[in-house]
Amino acid sequence: MNDRIARPSAFDTVNRLFDRAADLLELSEEKRTELKTPYREMMVRLPLLTDSGEQKIYKGYRVQHDNSRGPMKGGIRFHPEADLDEVRALASLMTWKTAVVNLPYGGAKGGIQCDPSELSDLDLERLTRRFTHRMEGFIGDHEDIPGPDMGTNARVMAWMMDEYSKFHGFSPGVVTGKPLELGGSAGRLSATGRGLFFAVERIAPEIGIELDGATVALQGFGNVGYWAARFLADAGCRIVAASDVRGTIAHPDGLDVDQLQQAAEASGSIMAFEADGVRKLDRDDLLSQKADILVPAALGGAIHEHNAGTLQCRLVAEGANHPTTPEADAILAERGITVLPDIYANAGGVTVSYFEWVQNLQQMRWDAERVDRELREVMHAAYDDLAAAAQEFDIDLRTAAFVVAIRRVAGAARLRGMH
Ligand code: GLU
Repeated sequence: MNDRIARPSAFDTVNRLFDRAADLLELSEEKRTELKTPYREMMVRLPLLTDSGEQKIYKGYRVQHDNSRGPMKGGIRFHPEADLDEVRALASLMTWKTAVVNLPYGGAKGGIQCDPSELSDLDLERLTRRFTHRMEGFIGDHEDIPGPDMGTNARVMAWMMDEYSKFHGFSPGVVTGKPLELGGSAGRLSATGRGLFFAVERIAPEIGIELDGATVALQGFGNVGYWAARFLADAGCRIVAASDVRGTIAHPDGLDVDQLQQAAEASGSIMAFEADGVRKLDRDDLLSQKADILVPAALGGAIHEHNAGTLQCRLVAEGANHPTTPEADAILAERGITVLPDIYANAGGVTVSYFEWVQNLQQMRWDAERVDRELREVMHAAYDDLAAAAQEFDIDLRTAAFVVAIRRVAGAARLRGMH
């Protein structure tokens, strides 16, 4: 969902952000190399005999980036653009993300290069089971714990849990984002959107935004976008524009999030939504819509040097992973636009995954109220850590997030010694 012109390596881009913070921390070259180099990388061949009798070969990936602070954690993405470089970048972002919100985890990410919308349910299940079979020796509730990401959901997590359990006995803690019936947590589905809302709620008064009546432009109407919009609308925000792969829809009085969702469910796109005063625009017009808060919740690289100058917002709250390129970051900083960086703003998902894992290990259940309360505490406490680092070095919140994360990971790695 972007119009990138050239495509730099996503992993290099993350490491540029890492280096900016590492410079401030005066980290040695050796330490930088150690912290950037993934712990383990896997590519697996996934043959599939489809429902229709076709023989296909897919590629699956899992990159385990760092385990200094605990077992590695991160989603599994089913997407045509999932390749080793992208998965590696996302795995390293998970290391920094879990450290920013101080979860006792390292980082990992996985994916299968496929378009899940083109696969039958049975093919999707077979592919998921084949992938889990290949990975079964390398994941585990104290080793590496996959979770959901783009193109995967609770049903996929249930298949992964079941397949893994064939080899290791009933193991609900090996994946998170499971259905409630199989040890999933209350609040996991909405967690990334809710966490993003808590981050926005925390920073809004600091930058003079009154949420009641504030306007929001939302890029991407998937799970993260939908829930973020729901919570922002519940707090009185007006969603004046929203987009999905097919286009942008705008209304100055605000769009009804549930009606958009109904349109998307019925037709596959929010563009089917009709009401008086609604304007239909191109997909890429979303970013330049005037709104107090812009929430990019689609693919990486959406805000880049060629469109950062057109943004008309005061706050960017990153629901997606790496939606803003470093070049765009610099332009936004110059224009005085505050950015709540991905490794903080979208950490609500992995935080509730952590709560789910804790519940699984303890064989306990938390109610939804407890999940929400503890998530709010985590998001607000992490903001305070970011704000303190931003002040200490006089830097933006993204660099501050990397400073907080690198300090935690480097500190743990140092104490563990050569591991
Ligand atoms: N996919 C989510 C992320 O990028 C969460 C992963 C998880 O719950 O393990 O943070």
